[in-house]
Amino acid sequence: AKSQGRGRYVVYTPDMDRHGAEQARIAADLRVAMDTGQLHLVYQPIVAMAGGHLYGVEALIRWNHPQRGPVGPVDFIPAAERTGLIVPLGAWILGEACRQAVRWQQELGDRAPHTVSVNVSARQLREAGFATDVAAVLQQTGLAPDRLTIEVTETAVFDGGTALNELHAIKALGVTIALDDFGTGHSSLGLLRTCPVDTLKVDKSFVDDVTQGGQQAVVAEALIHLSNGLSLRAVAEGVETAEQADALYRLGYRYAQGYFYDRPMPAADLSARLSEPEMR
Ligand code: C2E
Ligand code: CA
Ligand code: CA
Ligand code: CA
Repeated sequence: AKSQGRGRYVVYTPDMDRHGAEQARIAADLRVAMDTGQLHLVYQPIVAMAGGHLYGVEALIRWNHPQRGPVGPVDFIPAAERTGLIVPLGAWILGEACRQAVRWQQELGDRAPHTVSVNVSARQLREAGFATDVAAVLQQTGLAPDRLTIEVTETAVFDGGTALNELHAIKALGVTIALDDFGTGHSSLGLLRTCPVDTLKVDKSFVDDVTQGGQQAVVAEALIHLSNGLSLRAVAEGVETAEQADALYRLGYRYAQGYFYDRPMPAADLSARLSEPEMR
């Protein structure tokens, strides 16, 4: 393992340097991981900024490798995408997140997260029948469609093909659709007309220097006006400081996610937090 700074260690070589053999090795390890319970989901709160109330959570995958220790999703999701393993892996993630959402509703009643967001890769969206799988998972778990949010990137949707059809079918089920990392793709504005989107997740890069009043701050401001004008919910991603939160609030943002509020946490930790009377 070599240090990458920021206290993070890469256990496989960086994605750019990988050749087919290593991709295949990661995918093979991942397949074992799926079958032996090395994978789990953590959940990061999405909060209503005004009162700090929890609005929803985003499910994020974690891999605890028996030899290598924790491996982050940026170190294995690309390999899973390229090998196609993301399709069964993504199905497991979706099922697990929906089951957990139902558990929270049973445990916590109206204190449960209003929505659970699940990241979906381009590769999954391109599989014809993805929407049918989503419908089946909702039926099997008993989760109400409006309690599920599917997060897709602009690039995934722009891929064309069946992606847009699948999204419309998912939307027709009553599921919420969020565009992830918004503003970093290259198809943003046209996509808002063709894609049945409910939520824009404004990328961390626009949040980072929102207090500096530079170009990124101008874009952050434009994006909240755009969201409001189109009646979309905007979520500011990667909010790390009170200053950023204040600046975003002044621009008109009402929903945020980031280390300033909460880190991603195991489901049980979130249950415990939401059980406390003051943590609604
Ligand atoms: P993403 O969907 O944009 O998820 C947000 C990432 O930002 C997460 O990293 C989260 O832990 C991190 N984050 C949240 N708040 C802050 C903050 O205040 N500061 C900083 N520096 N980071 C923050 P994570 O969990 O490492 O995931 C990275 C990416 O891997 C995700 O980006 C997503 O693209 C992908 N990913 C994660 N879980 C899944 C999954 O279940 N399925 C798929 N297809 N992709 C996933
Ligand atoms: Ca996401
Ligand atoms: Ca994001
Ligand atoms: Ca991202």
